[in-house]
Order: sequence, then structure tokens, then C-alpha cells
Amino acid sequence: MPNRIVMKLVLMLSLCVLLSGVSSAQADMSIPEPSLRGNFVQGGMVIGRTTPGATVEFNGDTIQVGRHGDFVFGIGRDDEGPVQLRVRYANGQVWEESFPIESRKFDIQRVDGLPQQTVTPDPEVQRQIRANNEEVWHARQVRSERTDFTTQFIWPAEGRITGVYGSQRILNGQPRAPHWGLDIAAPTGSPVYAPADGIVTLTHPDMVLSGGTLIVDHGHGVFSTFIHLHAIHVEVGQEVKQGELIAEIGATGRATGPHLDWRINWGQVRVDPQLLVPPRD
Ligand SMILES: [Zn+2]
Repeated sequence: MPNRIVMKLVLMLSLCVLLSGVSSAQADMSIPEPSLRGNFVQGGMVIGRTTPGATVEFNGDTIQVGRHGDFVFGIGRDDEGPVQLRVRYANGQVWEESFPIESRKFDIQRVDGLPQQTVTPDPEVQRQIRANNEEVWHARQVRSERTDFTTQFIWPAEGRITGVYGSQRILNGQPRAPHWGLDIAAPTGSPVYAPADGIVTLTHPDMVLSGGTLIVDHGHGVFSTFIHLHAIHVEVGQEVKQGELIAEIGATGRATGPHLDWRINWGQVRVDPQLLVPPRD
């Protein structure tokens, strides 16, 4: 009976559609996908855009969505993934996907036989360091509506790269905090330019470890931090434009020589600045 065969085929096909719809929301073409750019890699930052009014969840947490649908999230140095992304549209539709995270090999250096004094600072210095860290932590708790993070970042300084994100030293067997910045060596007084538009949220002339410290908010919890500065030319609350002179390179705080140490955070998550700027050299 040809009719029964046709019926069977129709049934099988609809079952296939049903099953694929269950296993992956992507198979249902009627649910719009957000656009995503950036790197699903350790230290990466991903910038997305969805329909205005949609809500976005990153690993189950609701993240900020701008009024044009812009959002951003960062991937930590030691995150192994996969990360889960979910978009809930105003009409009740839900898009979700899981993304594997590309792992990286970071440079680890072991230094043994150091005098104990250089490893453990005295209590008063430790107290100052804690106070400095707290001030910086608070500056990065701001969640502004700015969406400067959607623009292409530019290099904030000229010079040789002498340090990279994620590297770590193990002193006398004790692992130190990884190096979070991109180090650019240049003479004291060399200009530092804003890598993107933003608003200044912290300036400090001389923190114990980081010396002259400047934080610029690029929106949605994305911050640039510049440390070891010789001079700072902007004030808290001031808006800066990409390419504007904001500071001068120095060797203040714990620095072995004049260089800019540029860090990028998404909230308290450290990401790799070098992944945000065009390749150089
Ligand atoms: Zn550095």
C-alpha cells in the first residue's frame, strides 16, 4: 500500500525534526541566533549582539544587555569550559548553546634560592597592599551602560613587549599570582593613549605594587587598568576618547624598569589585552 508507506515516511520525518529540536535549539531556524565575535579561548573576551529586550545568561548567570542588544563576557585564564550561553527572547523563545574553550600553555618560571625577605613582605606593607587591592576591586564593581567595548581596541603605547598575560613565577616553591598584564617597555614619560573610549573610575599616584594606577571603564564591567605610571593626565569621572593621551609610562611601584603594564578585566575576570588589539610587529 503506497499510502501507508507515505504516512510512515511522514511520521519518521516529523520524529526526526522533533528529536533534532530537542537535542539542539540551533536546528530550529525560527529562533534567531545572537552574533558573536571574539575568542572562546582562555583569557578571551566575546562580544555579542542580540535582539533588544532579550535576556542573556552566561554559565547560568544573567549578564548585562545594552539597549541595542550588546553584551560581553570574559573567559578566565584557568577556565576549562565548556561555557553555556542562553538567550531568552521577549516572545518566550530560548536559544542556547555550549561552547568548548580552547586551552593555552602559559609560561611558568621557577626561581629557587631567593632570600626569604623578597618572598614575604612585612605586615605594614601587606596591609597597604590589601587596602590598594580593595580600592581597585571597588573601582571594578561598577557596571555602567557604556558600550565602548564593542569598538576595536588600539595599542595604548609604542614599545617592545616584555611581558604577557598568564605567565607565572614560582618563587622558592611558592606559586605567585599570574602576570595579568601586557607589558610594553618604553622610556619614562612615553605617552599612554586610551585604547578605547571610556570613563575614568580610579586614579592613584603611587600604590605599593602597581605605583601610578589608572582604571578606565569601557562599559558592562570591561575595564582597562594601567600601572607603574609616571604621570596621570586624567581625573576620576572624566570621559576619554580612543587615542587620547591619558598618562605617561613609568617605573613606579614594584617595577624593574619603565614599562606600561596594561590589564583588561571583565568584572573580576582577567582577560588577555593582546587578544583585543590588532597583531603588531
Ligand atoms: Zn607587568
